[in-house]
Amino acid sequence: MKSKNSTMKIVVIITTVIILLGVALVVLTNKNNSEVGETHAEQPPVKEQPVLGENDAPVTVVEFGDFKCPACKAWGEKIYPQLINDYVETGKVKFSFINTPFHGKESTLASLAAESVLEQNPEVYWDFHNALFAEQPSENHDSQWVTVEKVLEVADGIQNIDLEELELALEEQSEIEKVNKDVELVEEFNVQLTPSIMINDIMLEDPFDYEAIKNLIDQELEG
Ligand code: CA
Repeated sequence: MKSKNSTMKIVVIITTVIILLGVALVVLTNKNNSEVGETHAEQPPVKEQPVLGENDAPVTVVEFGDFKCPACKAWGEKIYPQLINDYVETGKVKFSFINTPFHGKESTLASLAAESVLEQNPEVYWDFHNALFAEQPSENHDSQWVTVEKVLEVADGIQNIDLEELELALEEQSEIEKVNKDVELVEEFNVQLTPSIMINDIMLEDPFDYEAIKNLIDQELEG
């Protein structure tokens, strides 16, 4: 009887310790993530989105961005090249972009153009994407610059885009459903600002803090 009692005691103690360790781990993990961002129930699906990098890369980084947004252009110049160099080219991260047309008709036209290029020739999508961002004026970004003419001019500078096909796609808005799908994701993930960056299922607090981005990616790679 005595030995049964002490066995029970040991079992209770071990169970308590395991539970406490579990709670501590959850609290610690949440604390780590809450410092850099908000954890969502899932990560945004990228199956129908443009993807840069290896398809089987273990970590996914998604930008909710807008070609009309100056901060997105700045992110593309400051953070994106480091991310590509450190993680995408090493096969650890795949990068994707979801249109977040927060600046009216020009944002929608730019999104439509990007989706049309993706549909026509996915191989040159990122060339077009980067070239379109490069056209964003560094001053007076509220002035109109996204026009059909500008889109065609940018496309003309990239090989293997059929300009007539692109012009027709813009005229007929043939990829508008893809833009609408992106807007649904923007709402689903409660995106309020551009750029908003997600690393797997975590929405970053500060997309310009590259140290935090690195730490979080490394943490996700370990996990
Ligand atoms: Ca899209």
